[in-house]
Amino acid sequence: MKDKVLALLKEQNEYISGEEISNRLGVTRAGVWKNINKLKEEGYHIESSTKKGYHLINTPDILTHAELSNIIHTEILGKNICCYEEVDSTNQTVKVLARQGAKEGTVVIADKQLMGKGRLGKTWESPSGTGIWMSILLRPNIIPAQASQLTLLAGLNMCEAIQRVTGLECKIKWPNDIVVNGKKVCGILTEMSAELDRINYVILGIGVNVNTKSFPTELSHATSLSIAGGKDYLRRYIVKEFLQLFETDYMRYKDEKSIEIFLERYRASCITLHNHVKVIAAEREYIAYTKDIGQDGSLIVIDEEGGEKSVFSGEVSVRGIYGYI
Ligand code: ADP
Repeated sequence: MKDKVLALLKEQNEYISGEEISNRLGVTRAGVWKNINKLKEEGYHIESSTKKGYHLINTPDILTHAELSNIIHTEILGKNICCYEEVDSTNQTVKVLARQGAKEGTVVIADKQLMGKGRLGKTWESPSGTGIWMSILLRPNIIPAQASQLTLLAGLNMCEAIQRVTGLECKIKWPNDIVVNGKKVCGILTEMSAELDRINYVILGIGVNVNTKSFPTELSHATSLSIAGGKDYLRRYIVKEFLQLFETDYMRYKDEKSIEIFLERYRASCITLHNHVKVIAAEREYIAYTKDIGQDGSLIVIDEEGGEKSVFSGEVSVRGIYGYI
């Protein structure tokens, strides 16, 4: 009922009387008042006047089903969108849904993660009201070895989405971190369930620092779009832009079963290329020169002995020689 009251307020875009809401939705006046109060608690700025009724003045930066489904016009990604105030981890929530047979494109978004996950067992800081903490369920018909290519594609699309919505210059730190002014604004964690030659499902977990104002000292390499741009952004428009861009490219990827056609765009945005970096693998760390992105999405480097090798994203972290980027 709350969403229906909201829809009416939006449709009217002016004062609408309690009586009219009550008649149109078949609820009592007290019911209308209760739902208006719930909306106010969520942060909607609604003016009330005993004579004229209610007028929606401002919509807050909240990631709710009502706000997202209103603006996202996709066929698959986000058709089923589940929004939570708080979860342990959005990847974990999607995993449960996937096991229950949830459809491809199911999206879970939380305002806050209590145990946000990063790659290689690391944690991801996900405070309330500031970021986009989102996971997407995919069921592509590709071999497990290719799953990391989806992470590259999602990174590319998020980079483009942020750029379109904020106008900020974003770069991709291979494989899928997004950096602005040399600091990290977005990380992506891909998890999958697979047989030897077949994927059951892939979960793409994406974290974007949107309106974060400060970070703990141990995250000195992190920044937010708001810090970089000097103003706040509405998170829902970044979600919308990303899901729309990613849906188009994901469909093409599923047809082609290859990342090749996207590499031109990826290389153009990649900050990691043609640089000296530190490659941190489980068994050793070494300095290497980053030569190219391979057809399979791997990072082609030349190590200190002059040997060329392909580095695969699941196994390593890449850092700048003097810092994170
Ligand atoms: P990597 O940086 O090795 O590719 P991830 O992308 O999974 O790994 O990110 C995990 C790392 O990111 C953590 O080790 C932590 O240092 C850092 N981190 C955690 N939360 C945030 C955040 N909100 N913004 C930026 N960086 C973060």
